[in-house]
Amino acid sequence: MSEYSAPVRDMRFVLEHLAHLDDVASIDEWSHASVDDFAAVLEESGKFMAEVVAPTNAESDRIGAKWVDGEVVTPPFFADMWRKTCEAGWNSVGAPAEYGGGGMPTVALTPLSEMLAAANASFSMLPGLTTGAVEMLDAWADDEQKNTYLPKMISGEWSGTMNLTEPEAGSDVGALRTAAVKQDDGSYLISGTKIYISFGEHDLTENIIHLVLARTPDAPPGTKGISCFIVPKFLVNEDGSLGERNDVTCVSIEHKLGITSSPTCVLSFGENGGAVGYLIGEENRGMKYMFTMMNNARLAVGIAGVGIADRAYQHAVQWAQDRVQGRPIGAAADVNVPIIEHADVRRMLLTMRSQVEASRALSYLNGAAIDLGRRHPDEAERERWQHLAELLTPVTKAWSTDVGVEVCSTAIQVFGGMGFIEETGIAQNWRDERIQPIYEGTNGIQALDLIGRKLPLGGGAPINALLTQVKELADEVEALGDGWALSAANLRDATAAWEKATWWIFEHGVQDPVDAAAGATPYLKLFGTVFGGYLLARSAVVAAKLLAGDGYDDPRFLEDKQTTARFYCEQLLPQAGGLVGAVTAGKQSLFGIPADRF
Ligand SMILES: Cc1cc2nc3c(=O)[nH]c(=O)nc-3n(C[C@H](O)[C@H](O)[C@H](O)COP(=O)(O)OP(=O)(O)OC[C@H]3O[C@@H](n4cnc5c(N)ncnc54)[C@H](O)[C@@H]3O)c2cc1C
Repeated sequence: MSEYSAPVRDMRFVLEHLAHLDDVASIDEWSHASVDDFAAVLEESGKFMAEVVAPTNAESDRIGAKWVDGEVVTPPFFADMWRKTCEAGWNSVGAPAEYGGGGMPTVALTPLSEMLAAANASFSMLPGLTTGAVEMLDAWADDEQKNTYLPKMISGEWSGTMNLTEPEAGSDVGALRTAAVKQDDGSYLISGTKIYISFGEHDLTENIIHLVLARTPDAPPGTKGISCFIVPKFLVNEDGSLGERNDVTCVSIEHKLGITSSPTCVLSFGENGGAVGYLIGEENRGMKYMFTMMNNARLAVGIAGVGIADRAYQHAVQWAQDRVQGRPIGAAADVNVPIIEHADVRRMLLTMRSQVEASRALSYLNGAAIDLGRRHPDEAERERWQHLAELLTPVTKAWSTDVGVEVCSTAIQVFGGMGFIEETGIAQNWRDERIQPIYEGTNGIQALDLIGRKLPLGGGAPINALLTQVKELADEVEALGDGWALSAANLRDATAAWEKATWWIFEHGVQDPVDAAAGATPYLKLFGTVFGGYLLARSAVVAAKLLAGDGYDDPRFLEDKQTTARFYCEQLLPQAGGLVGAVTAGKQSLFGIPADRF
């Protein structure tokens, strides 16, 4: 069974036709690279992931990360794989060019993150977190800090971590207690315990740069009193060489359901007087700074959801093509066929395929919106894209990962009994995928963010614009001709459902926020389901135009794209209507049973 093959053709199609790669590539900063250049990078990266990283996936799951006397040992082949990844530049393609990175836009980075997560989800955490830390330092650190840390983090000699979570501060980050006390020399002494810190300790880089949220003695309570510090594992001398070991230790690592070789660490700061930390920016503004890293991580987690799901889909297809079982309805008794010939197996495969393609399109569009929101030369356009990026981020994070878990579970179903047997490897995808809806703000928290902060953006203009865009596409879908009437009708119905649910949230969010919060998760699902359908329907319209011309080299890809879109519109879009009831039911039945009677 082939381990993983990067879906480069679909990635390129999405970048070019749905995710505005042309618009991004026309911006000064990125105008040196053409769409073909980006496509060449995709090909090269796909080859690297398939040949170097993907074959290690099962073995790294079996071996896992080990804690030995405060040190963490990763699988033996990780060091070589990390070296090759850094030498090829795949850890730093999006990092700022002035410090040695590739300087590529976020949208071009999204497929690379997808490939890396698909190839080895555990391993992908190291470059993923380091990329986020680099972006955060580049945005908020001073020049001296940038010069000290960025070049080595970008080269892969040092890695980065994100230290938010504490035993009493999970979703409620504002409850954190780690303390930071200012010293005469301007540095701070940090003390406290952080839990679940991914790659908080490991043997792959010579230094680890922890970005730590902590509270100064007189800080106001909650998120308004949080500051952000750079706490290196080894202090850095003025000449850039490594100095003393800092006062931060890895007390233990977790034994987990999945991503077993990504060490999830309990870190203790200041057991011997205090770990030396350096303030980023100003005191009490740490949450704002950390949001740069968290938004990056939310998009990255959504994309990892797509990548792992795609790997599971690819394996399910191979299994369904090979496994011979049963005969087609009405065939002679001695005719046995591969299970892919059965209608129900096709339903499973097309459900997975269309969900992967829809969530891929959503994530890449989100990446482009981030780029255009930061760099578009026109201020009004910049604001429009920025709002879209903010609106889509919780949906990309939560919908792509919820759908990803569903896809991985369906893949197990396609394998039948062998899906439940670890030896086939299909269950690992589900185990690795299952963390994605939990970390980086649980999907429940994303749904609250969507209805509470993102829908009201710009007085509701961004969500209104999306609703209008989706409504308008239905006519174009209908114009595709024979066989598309049902898809167009379903798109209209689904958009009406989305609109109704949206206005209900707006109205009730003001009257009774708990009523609106009660419908937040079904609302996010409805949003993702309809907008995912819109993106696939748009693919079908684009495919029709390309098929009508004669320049496309693989018409079968376009025909299959259309069939996948049509399946989604006919069979999955109608679920949207069924979600309105859950969105608009309010809190009543949820709070009907007192907590102690559950
Ligand atoms: C493998 C792994 C790796 C991780 N890596 C990192 C890392 O590198 N750095 C880091 O800082 N953290 C990391 N985390 C922590 C992760 O981000 C948290 O686990 C996550 O944010 C949830 O916090 P919690 O576990 O305390 O759950 P809780 O906050 O206790 O939530 C439990 C449940 O209650 C719900 N809930 C909580 N509050 C509310 C609310 N106000 N309204 C509605 N529902 C609510 C949640 O949605 C969830 O379903 C990692 C965790 C794991 C498991």
